[in-house]
Amino acid sequence: MPEELIISISGMRGILGQNLTASIAADYGCAFGSYLLTRNPDKKRLCVCIGRDSRPSGQTLLSAVAAGLLSTGIDCIDIGIISTPGVSVMLRRLNCAGGVVITASHNPVQYNGIKLLLDNGIAPPPQSAEQIKKVFVEKKFSFASSVDCGRLSENKDAVNVHIEKVLANVDAGKIASKKYKVVLDSVNGAGAAEGKLLLLKLGCRTTAINDEPTGLFAHKPEPIAENLTGLCKRVLEEKADVGFALDPDADRLAVVDQTGRYIGEEYTLALAAKYILMKTKGPVATNLSTSRMIDDIAGDALVKVIRTPVGEANVANAMLENNCVIGGEGNGGVIDLRVCPVRNSMVAMAFILRYMAETGKTISELSSGIPSYFMIKDKIRMDTGDFKKIISKVRQFIADAKINNDDGCRLDFDDGWLHLRKSNTEPIVRIIIEAANRELAEKYLNVVRKAGEGFIVQP
Ligand code: MG
Repeated sequence: MPEELIISISGMRGILGQNLTASIAADYGCAFGSYLLTRNPDKKRLCVCIGRDSRPSGQTLLSAVAAGLLSTGIDCIDIGIISTPGVSVMLRRLNCAGGVVITASHNPVQYNGIKLLLDNGIAPPPQSAEQIKKVFVEKKFSFASSVDCGRLSENKDAVNVHIEKVLANVDAGKIASKKYKVVLDSVNGAGAAEGKLLLLKLGCRTTAINDEPTGLFAHKPEPIAENLTGLCKRVLEEKADVGFALDPDADRLAVVDQTGRYIGEEYTLALAAKYILMKTKGPVATNLSTSRMIDDIAGDALVKVIRTPVGEANVANAMLENNCVIGGEGNGGVIDLRVCPVRNSMVAMAFILRYMAETGKTISELSSGIPSYFMIKDKIRMDTGDFKKIISKVRQFIADAKINNDDGCRLDFDDGWLHLRKSNTEPIVRIIIEAANRELAEKYLNVVRKAGEGFIVQP
C-alpha cells in the first residue's frame, strides 16, 4: 500500500511521484499564499523566499510551490540550494512574509518535503498550521487576477549572508589561531557550501567529503553512528582535531572526536551550551526528549532549563519568551536566536570550535567532562487510544516520579527519566529512556514493555 502523505505543523513530506506530486505542491503553495494574505490587512505586496536542499526532486517542488504562491499574487525569491537555517536567515534579511524550505531532512532520497516558515523565521504555530491545512484540503484559494500575479526572481547571496551572520556571533580570530584540522561530511546535501565557507573563515584546515550538492547521498543521511563510519575513519587518517557531519538540510550536527569516535548527537547541544554558559548566563530551552546532560550543565551554571514539547518551533518560541541564551534539541540541533530561530549546524560547529579554542582541550576531553548517561530510543506498536492506560500502568511501577504531561508523558526519577509520546501518523508510542547506565535504562524499558503488554497491535 502506498504511504500516506504526511501533513504536520511544519509542512508536508512524501515520496515524489507517488503521494507527493507537482500539483499537490502547487496547491500547497496556493494554500500558504492564501493564508499569508489573511495576515496582510494593509494589502502590501508580499514576498516569500524559497530554498531547497540538494535532492534531485527539489527543483520540481520549488517550481511548483512557487507557481502556487505566484498565483495568489505573492512574489517569490528562489535562493537556491541552501540549509534550512539559511532560509530562516534570508527571509528576514529580505523582509519576506514567509519562507519555504524544500527538504525531507534526514529521510532517504526518494522523499522530499515542503517546510513553511513565517516572517519571524519560525514554523507556523499549531493554529496557523491548521488554518493552512484547511485551505489546502478545501482548496479555498485566493487567486490574484492576471495582472496581479506574483513575480519570480533569484537571489544568490544566501550562503554568504548566513555565514556572515554566524561569524558575527563568534570570535573567529581565537579559533583561527588554532588552525584546527577538520573533516566535514555534508552527505552531498545542502550544507557543503555554507560549511566549507564557515570553516575557511574560521581558519580551519578542512577536508570536505561528500561535498557535491547532488542530493545523491553518499551514505544513509541521518547523522547517527552507524551511518558515519566513513567520517570516523577519515578523521583518524587525516589526524584531524574533529569531524563534523551534517544532515541533508544542515540543521543537525553530529560530532566525531579526534580518536575517530562518534560521540553522539546529544553531545552537540551539550557542548554548545557548555560554551555559551561559560560566556553568558541565562536560561536554556530544550524539548522533553533531550538528555539530562543539559540539566547538569545548566545546574553548574546556576541557570534554569525550560522543557518544551518536541518540535523546534516549540523550543524557539520558549527561547523567545524566556530570553534564553541557547536552546535546541538532542538530535544535534542548536539554536542561537541571534542568528535565526531554527536549529543550525553552522552555529553548532562555530560554538564547538570556539569551546575547543577557549579551553585548549580536545573534543574527547571536553565531552568526557560532561556527566554521561545511557539513552534508549524505542517504540511499541499499539492502539494509541490506549495511551493513557499505559501511562497509568507505568506510573504504578515507578513511584515518586515527577510528571510532565505537556507532550505525552515524561517521568523524571532519581536515576533517570522516560518520555512516552504517541505518534500522530502511525499507531505507535515512542519511548525515550535515559539512565545512569545501560542496565538501568533496559530495566526501565522492560517496565514500559510490561505496561504495554495487552495493548500491542500487529502491523
Ligand atoms: Mg534536518
